[in-house]
Amino acid sequence: MARSYVAEARRRGLGTRRERIRPIVERLAAEHEDATIALRFRSDVELLISVMLSAQTTDVNVNRVTETLFQKYRRPEDYLAVPVEELERDIFQTGFFRQKAKSLRGTMQILIEDYDGRVPEDFDALLRLPGVARKTANVVMAERGNAQGIVVDTHVRRLSQRLGFTRQEDPVKIERDLIRLVPREDWARFPHLLIWHGRRVCDARRPACERCVLAADLCPSTRV
Ligand code: SF4
Repeated sequence: MARSYVAEARRRGLGTRRERIRPIVERLAAEHEDATIALRFRSDVELLISVMLSAQTTDVNVNRVTETLFQKYRRPEDYLAVPVEELERDIFQTGFFRQKAKSLRGTMQILIEDYDGRVPEDFDALLRLPGVARKTANVVMAERGNAQGIVVDTHVRRLSQRLGFTRQEDPVKIERDLIRLVPREDWARFPHLLIWHGRRVCDARRPACERCVLAADLCPSTRV
């Protein structure tokens, strides 16, 4: 599927992806001025925990859970002070609660022992924390104003394919394509723009091309 969108862009004379990337970013930024991270947090530790909990569930669901979680667990030590079963219950609604509780406790232990209770600044150090994969580390770095890559979630994957930015399916390879294409100063906001456009307009099953700002001249997948 994704392969044909790249060919389609060429066939329609829409311009190469390099020619289209800036106008696409500008148009989406004007359309979704409020496109920021949907998770709610008040500190780097809460940010890290929220992103870890968001695996395989929605941001809305995570916010529902963390609203009370962050009242009860205020410091990394608090996650280790309760029996693991209690933490599992407290995060149960985010799904995969056993694995997430284990990762959270492992990560909090390392923050306390090695980083004075803070979240490490370094991307590679983040990746060494239990349960922290590339996507989580990318989100944390981007939110702290030091993006080291481009977050690829299900929306970013779908829209990058539809817009002809990549032919890949694997998130790591998609990120590699995007890094080559998207200007570095846009690495942090780019995924937010695609995520919000994906949620509001370019739905997985029914893209609303008739009201999409990219449909007329920038999207090879348009149905109008
Ligand atoms: S024109 Fe349609 S397929 Fe292309 S980005 Fe817009 S909604 Fe998605």
